[in-house]
Amino acid sequence: MEECIFCKILKKECPGHFVFEDDSVAGFLDNHPLNRGHTLIVPKKHYDSMMDVPDDVLSQLIVTTKKVGIQVCNALDAAGFNLFQNNGTHAGQVVPHIHFHIIPRFKDDPLRFRPDRKQAAAEELSALKEKIIAGNGTGLR
Ligand code: 5GP
Ligand code: ZN
Repeated sequence: MEECIFCKILKKECPGHFVFEDDSVAGFLDNHPLNRGHTLIVPKKHYDSMMDVPDDVLSQLIVTTKKVGIQVCNALDAAGFNLFQNNGTHAGQVVPHIHFHIIPRFKDDPLRFRPDRKQAAAEELSALKEKIIAGNGTGLR
């Protein structure tokens, strides 16, 4: 099977603009940025998604995401940042190597991530709550 693009970037077989690197995690700039400074945080070892990443690697990823998110904001004078993390094709994951997106936000920038929503009925929330609690430990499909 062909190796994933992020593994190739990590091995320096494909170009990457790295902003962070340690033994287990790296951060590099997204080459189709949603905003200036859009950065991806990835584990050096390949895991497809949140479904199979070990907890210790996930901890390192999120701590690094925090650190680099703050660093990007400071460097670019951003007002804040959004975090995205897609799991599975139907959730919009295109590269099957787990990653966090850091999207720096600037005052009055045009990005909008709030689709229309409607208020849920209390009975629906109660039924869903029971279903989700019962699904504990079954893992994601
Ligand atoms: P996903 O949709 O899987 O959560 O996000 C994948 C991200 O990887 C996208 O934002 C896309 O622009 C970025 N990406 C895909 N291929 C490359 C590449 O070759 N280099 C870099 N730097 N980013 C990439
Ligand atoms: Zn990979």
